Amino acid sequence: MGRRLGVMGGTFDPIHFGHLVTAEEALAQFELDEVVFIPTGQPWMKEHPVAAPGEDRYLMTVIATASNPRFSVSRLEVEREGSTYTVDTLRALAAERPDAELFFVTGADAMLEILHWKDPEEVLSLAHFIAATRPGYDIAVFEAGAPAQNARVSVMSIPALAISSTDIRRRVKGGRPIRYLVPEGVKSYIEKAGLYR
Ligand code: NAP
Repeated sequence: MGRRLGVMGGTFDPIHFGHLVTAEEALAQFELDEVVFIPTGQPWMKEHPVAAPGEDRYLMTVIATASNPRFSVSRLEVEREGSTYTVDTLRALAAERPDAELFFVTGADAMLEILHWKDPEEVLSLAHFIAATRPGYDIAVFEAGAPAQNARVSVMSIPALAISSTDIRRRVKGGRPIRYLVPEGVKSYIEKAGLYR
């Protein structure tokens, strides 16, 4: 039987416990065999450039996931020249692992835009989609949105997503604590590399 492969797409700027809980929950709810985290390279449709370089976001993701034998991290997007498109990533994964069934996991806000991504029909044909929402997220907004019309999109509510990368970056800039919001190794990396100041 083919393996059920979770694909965690995100900027991870920085990775935090909300992302890790999301991946673990997807693993359990959708009976996945493994989850590969794919930090974005140069994201498409971003109003603001990412705060930390791809290499730092990749290394923080490796540190955060190291203790989980079912989690791994891919350099696919950080090494890609030019803009990051999910269709290219899913095509590459499908070619690399032809027996795997792909489950793309990301935030609901990002997934609402899926029909505006590059080659949306092909994107939707290559994987199942799991949209993670924060507490208090108005699911009606998502359900009214286009992606919900597709049966391959599921929504998963994750209380730990009360943590956000934006808040963490603000905290670092303001000299406020981030302990217990990110793994200890990620906190140390942010301090050592002088990120988000
Ligand atoms: P984003 O706008 O930075 O994030 C949107 C929201 O989703 C934020 O609240 C974010 O929280 C949350 N989020 C992001 N990734 C998550 C994850 N894996 N699990 C749970 N919550 C998550 O979105 P993005 O990171 O740039 O893009 C998300 C994914 O969609 C990426 O893989 C990206 O390549 C893909 N995408 C593709 C296209 C395209 O192909 N054209 C266009 C847009 C996005 P935090 O800030 O706390 O992470």
